Amino acid sequence: MKLIEDKMKNWPERFTFILNPYKDTRLSACPMCRQPTHMRKFALLIHVEGSGFLALGKTCRYCSPCELIMSHQDELEDELVEVFENRAPELIGNPYHVFGTVEKKWWKQSLGQTGSSLNQMLEHVFLFKSIRNLKITGGWQPPKKPRPIK
Ligand SMILES: [Zn+2]
Repeated sequence: MKLIEDKMKNWPERFTFILNPYKDTRLSACPMCRQPTHMRKFALLIHVEGSGFLALGKTCRYCSPCELIMSHQDELEDELVEVFENRAPELIGNPYHVFGTVEKKWWKQSLGQTGSSLNQMLEHVFLFKSIRNLKITGGWQPPKKPRPIK
C-alpha cells in the first residue's frame, strides 16, 4: 500500500465527482451550472478495503463544461456487488472510495487481469479534482408560511 500512496502523489487530477445517494434524483440538469447533462461511460477507479484498486466501467451522468461526473450510489454499489460475487464475496459491504478515473484504453486492456496489468493501469489514472456532496433543497416541503408575530 505504501508504494501505491507514493504513486498517488504523482497522479494527475481531472474531473469533479458526485456520488448521488438520492434514488429519485436523476440529475438531468447539472447541479453546478444547470445545463442539461448527458450519459457517458467512464472507468471509475475504486478502492475497496481488503481488495485494493479496481476499475469499474460505469455509465454516469456527465456535464462537459464543468467536467462533472455524477453516479447513482445504488447503481454503483449494485455493480460492485456483481464484481465481488464471483471474485471475493466476503468483501461485499466493505468500505470503498471512488478515487478517480482510468483512461478507457488501459481499463479495457486490464479487464479480467491482475498483477502487472493492474500496475500498468495505475500509470494511467486521474484523481478527482474534488468530490462534492449533493444537497437537495426544495422537493417535497410544505410551502413556507410566515411566522405568526407574537
Ligand atoms: Zn455543469
